[in-house]
Amino acid sequence: MPEYWLSLGSNLGNRKTNLFRALKQLNSLGTVLKRSSVYETKPVGTAARHNFLNMACKLRTQLQPFRLLRKLKQIETEFGRIRTERWGNRIIDLDIIYWNGKELHTNILTIPHHLMENRAFVLIPLAECCADLINHQGKSIKELMGKLSDPNDVRLYKRSENSQT
Ligand code: ATP
Ligand code: CA
Ligand code: CA
Repeated sequence: MPEYWLSLGSNLGNRKTNLFRALKQLNSLGTVLKRSSVYETKPVGTAARHNFLNMACKLRTQLQPFRLLRKLKQIETEFGRIRTERWGNRIIDLDIIYWNGKELHTNILTIPHHLMENRAFVLIPLAECCADLINHQGKSIKELMGKLSDPNDVRLYKRSENSQT
């Protein structure tokens, strides 16, 4: 059965609640096998003003990539996400990062996610779960992290804030 690594992000409303509500929704698409802690991240660029909370999770599901993408967008819409400018504020963002070590390159879906290698807020939560995971180019998450220019912009959210309740 396909297994995916996903990246979750929220910078509007109750950000932590949004992440855990999203995890619950993901569990209804299959099984969330692993999740990282919650991390707090400064927004990249100028479109988003508030800090993000980010998390990574591993989802096992029968859904093939395009169907999964459609479901992820449905969840985003149910949460009330309104698409304004790219990289702007959002209640929830659900991106597919990896899929069974396979690649996909189309106009609407690219796997691995095309910007993952430059993004500390994607790599740092992933590294907590699977630092040794090797991608299609033979590079581990740990190796990719070594090339990041902004690792300090991502910090572990306070332990007391990291519990699910
Ligand atoms: P970014 O793609 O830089 O993370 P974003 O998440 O803010 O930006 P969205 O508006 O959420 O961008 O998505 C833009 C489009 O990206 C989606 O409509 C989707 O079709 C496409 N897309 C391509 N590859 C992926 C992927 N791996 N995961 C999620 N969406 C993807
Ligand atoms: Ca994104
Ligand atoms: Ca997205």
